Amino acid sequence: MLLSAEDIAERVRELGAQITHDFAGQPLHAIGVLKGCFMFMTDLVREIDLDCSIDFLGVSSYGSRTESSGVVRTTHDLSAPIAGKHVLLIEDIVDTGLTMKYLIDNLQTRRPASITVCTLLHKPSNQKIEVPVHYVGFTIPNKFVIGYGLDYAERFRNLPYIGVVTNAAALIADEEE
Ligand code: 5GP
Repeated sequence: MLLSAEDIAERVRELGAQITHDFAGQPLHAIGVLKGCFMFMTDLVREIDLDCSIDFLGVSSYGSRTESSGVVRTTHDLSAPIAGKHVLLIEDIVDTGLTMKYLIDNLQTRRPASITVCTLLHKPSNQKIEVPVHYVGFTIPNKFVIGYGLDYAERFRNLPYIGVVTNAAALIADEEE
């Protein structure tokens, strides 16, 4: 285990309070990046005491199960325009930064008033491209993590904590036995 459910809950409360303070008086349009954001987003928005609307974007990156290729495809588009809105983009993890770059470039073309990025996890040691990350829950080492929304081959998203995968193949084999 890398981060317990209690560690996460405490940090999410802090992030919510910080965002509430920083955006005071402004309506916020929270956009979650599926699927990994789903648990973090539902916890975070409950800690944000602002006029807040919600939407989702789905993306999937091609490549091996534990390494990002940077080739991203949209699997689910926003349900409404974002022109003139203050967007809070909520991600599970920024690793190489390639997905975030794709998301920001994509959203910028829709003319929002602003885009602010909030990620639960950040692996700066693996970052390949400079992207703005305004709020970070935890900076973590360059290890593949699962749980609290994050998957390995669509499994383990429901774990209430975040764990490090040391031997992914064995993990799946154990689960399937
Ligand atoms: P990036 O494009 O920044 O390299 O990666 C972004 C996406 O890759 C994340 O949104 C996430 O879906 C996936 N990813 C990167 N690192 C991890 C990790 O340690 N665990 C899991 N489960 N997914 C990861």
